[in-house]
Amino acid sequence: MNRTEIYLDHAATTPVDPRVLEVMVPYFTRSYGNPSSIYALGREARAALDQARARIARILNCQAREIVFTSGGTESDNLALKGVAFWHLLNGRGRHIVTTAFEHHAVLHSAEYLERFGFEVTYVRPDPDGIVHPEAIEEALRPDTILVSVMYANNEIGTVQPIREIARLCRKRGVTFHTDAVQAAGTLPLDVEKLGVDLLSVSAHKFYGPKGVGFLYVRSGTPILWQQHGGAQESNRRAGTENVPGIVGMAYALELAYEELEERNARIQALRDRLIDDILSRIPDARLNGHRERRLPNNVNVTFEGVDGETLLLNLDLHGIAASSGSACTTGSTEPSHVLLAIGRTPEQARSSVRLTLGKDNTPEEIERTLDVLQETVARLRSLARARAR
Ligand code: PLP
Repeated sequence: MNRTEIYLDHAATTPVDPRVLEVMVPYFTRSYGNPSSIYALGREARAALDQARARIARILNCQAREIVFTSGGTESDNLALKGVAFWHLLNGRGRHIVTTAFEHHAVLHSAEYLERFGFEVTYVRPDPDGIVHPEAIEEALRPDTILVSVMYANNEIGTVQPIREIARLCRKRGVTFHTDAVQAAGTLPLDVEKLGVDLLSVSAHKFYGPKGVGFLYVRSGTPILWQQHGGAQESNRRAGTENVPGIVGMAYALELAYEELEERNARIQALRDRLIDDILSRIPDARLNGHRERRLPNNVNVTFEGVDGETLLLNLDLHGIAASSGSACTTGSTEPSHVLLAIGRTPEQARSSVRLTLGKDNTPEEIERTLDVLQETVARLRSLARARAR
């Protein structure tokens, strides 16, 4: 098996920062107690949890008890949607949910599940640039709308959504607002007061923290029915022994991301701009998906007309370059990306698209090499396709 030498799939996951790993290790080896145990070892773990919660709360500008630790982005999204919906099933009368057609499947499949319980869901379409307009959300609101869920940044095309404006109009109407900030955390501001959100999902492995750990920010007073039952962990809100090393690592990874934010974003964005500009100028019939400016600093998503995206990826892999043809969760399925379809691409165009997402350790030399391989491979695949058609 060949090795990946150039990693350009940071939207799928990131390596754990060695500094993060270092602070996690003692919670596997020395301070391994269960935070629910009353003896010293347990209290040590409890103290680490409390500290991690407080540090995360500082970054979000919220109260520590508004942070609920989870197993990652998928669980946070499920908890947000099902938690609010089932609270209303018990206590309210509203049955209507508004989300968008290009959310991550953790949100979309939760919404579809809720439809089986009688909830009605409106799936608002983003515009062709991949932006959800607040007016489109406002139009979708009904007197019985209980929840709006719009992602902060899209995981495939990287477009950043006008979350503040959407949060503001939801608050005016008294509707709970959730944002999936999994791709935004570590890159965009997370101050929940400024954003005005009620619920916000985060996953550690997208910002150089460990996999399998995340949190849901839950504004005090948000109607929510907790979904996981068992022990009294997380103040009876999410049962299960906490992933102490993971949570400690997540808090530190988030702190590092915001301490180093400007430098990281500037460096990555410069590489991204070079990648986009050179792809568009050097490779004919290539088209950028998603708004040119209103996108994450690390996201490049391009359609190469007449080229099969999966074949292109396999060829990149042979050259040691890791990229993706949409969200990692749908790899292996032949369905064209629902995100690209939602912004109006044809199934054919969607299947001819690749996503390259940069990270803090990519170098200009790696970008140059990727451009050379892309240019050569796209030309070769196109000429093969032409020969076959003759
Ligand atoms: N939401 C978005 C926007 C994502 O990009 C992802 C992961 O790709 C998730 C949710 C799921 O997060 P996790 O992998 O932590 O379950």
